[in-house]
Amino acid sequence: NVRVRFAPSPTGPLHIGGVRTALFNYLFAKKHNGTFVLRIEDTDQTRYVANAEQYIIDALNWCNIPFDEGPGKNEKFGPYRQSERKEIYKQYAEELIAKGKAYYAFDTAETLDFHRKDHEEKGKTFIYNWHNREKLTTSLTLSKEEVEQRIANGEKYVVRFKMHNPATDTEETVISANDIIRGTVSFKTAILDDKIIFKSDGMPTYHLANIVDDHLMQISHVIRGEEWLPSLPLHVALYQAFDWEAPKFAHLPLILKPVGKGKLSKRDGDKLGFPVFPLEYKNEATGDISRGYKEDGYFNDAFINMLALLGWNPGTEQELFNLEELCAEFSLERVSKSGAKFSPDKTKWFNQQYMMTKSDAELADIFNDILVEKGITSELAYTEKVVSLIKERATFVADFWELGNFFFENPTEYDAKASKKQWKEGTPELMKELVTIIESVNDFNSQNIETIVKEWITSKEIGFGKVMQPFRLSLVGAMKGPHLFDIAEMIGKQATIDRINNAIE
Ligand code: GLU
Repeated sequence: NVRVRFAPSPTGPLHIGGVRTALFNYLFAKKHNGTFVLRIEDTDQTRYVANAEQYIIDALNWCNIPFDEGPGKNEKFGPYRQSERKEIYKQYAEELIAKGKAYYAFDTAETLDFHRKDHEEKGKTFIYNWHNREKLTTSLTLSKEEVEQRIANGEKYVVRFKMHNPATDTEETVISANDIIRGTVSFKTAILDDKIIFKSDGMPTYHLANIVDDHLMQISHVIRGEEWLPSLPLHVALYQAFDWEAPKFAHLPLILKPVGKGKLSKRDGDKLGFPVFPLEYKNEATGDISRGYKEDGYFNDAFINMLALLGWNPGTEQELFNLEELCAEFSLERVSKSGAKFSPDKTKWFNQQYMMTKSDAELADIFNDILVEKGITSELAYTEKVVSLIKERATFVADFWELGNFFFENPTEYDAKASKKQWKEGTPELMKELVTIIESVNDFNSQNIETIVKEWITSKEIGFGKVMQPFRLSLVGAMKGPHLFDIAEMIGKQATIDRINNAIE
């Protein structure tokens, strides 16, 4: 019974790395007829951002990868917000203390600072672990009564996990875990520190809350980013301390910057001009707006297809997969260990590929909204025809305007360079003649206009360019656009004539 979870901390908008983690969890769940859980890990109140949870849910919905279980939905194992589960963690922290696997620590910031400096002077680094437990103020060194007294007095404390136990462990003792992507990973316990798992403000730290919830929510596979790999020994040790069976783990490779080395960050996006968030995000505190793939005009299916291939590969040359195909093909075994380079150009390429798969009606519908913003209302059927003529050259629906504005409005200006080159002596006379030829076309369709205009040009024994170039300039305003006679048919006889006359003036 596969149960996976996506467990973001609501500290801000979801970065594409987070969306990729959610996607891989979703695909793995769907592939195995499992359940995809959303859990909000909001125990760090200092970093809590109010609109972040809604943003996360909106982003998953836009990507078409909704959760099966989570806040407000199928709450079988709820609540799904850790801040609403506070009471649960305390009892588990106490269980570990009772078992001798964890202890209270009362050290002040000053004491810890003192030890750090003291170690530094001796050329060493201070690690809060078994080497130093004796020197510190903890329930391991204090009497039971004294511990109770301090807690009763309201003294600040933390609960630390006893990572290494010199009574039973040696310097060589290792904690091993199997990672589906990386194989066996081992860590020596003697060099690890005694991590804080609970604080006197009543809140657990990420580690305790995370594993308690994965256990209680019956999570079968933990699929998360590589940055959590260093936490794996602690998590495995916690499962052992509770005598719980641990889930299986898979740590996904990092998403790397498009140029240079290292992890992709928001700064790379700002610098190179691409979004790193699925949806636009407004920072309520600063008012700053971060760009989103949706608002930048990306199709959600193109975005998801691109993300799926960041770290996963199907083992074939195939690059285009719809969500259904991804669900069928996906496997953790085909996720690579090494980082995946993000490419803004490839992302655009995917969008352009998906453009071809969309129907003209669907695209026209989106384009009409853009037209309305420009104060233009266009019949859907007309916009559809325009779309069919120009979409091949577009990456985004927004490009349609640049590629086909002349289908909706007369040119307001003429490209200066082209005018100089194409509008020569004799051109106005030729264009006047062209107007009469156009007037003579009865059935005003592209084929007809073409035949009649070309016959006339041939009879005059002049080059086609002499007429066709200024003709294009008149209709379009520049030397761009699809087949000229298609444009004429689309805008109609009167508009064609008017535009030529306007150009002559
Ligand atoms: N709350 C952690 C995060 O923000 C979850 C890590 C995990 O999946 O264990 O990524």
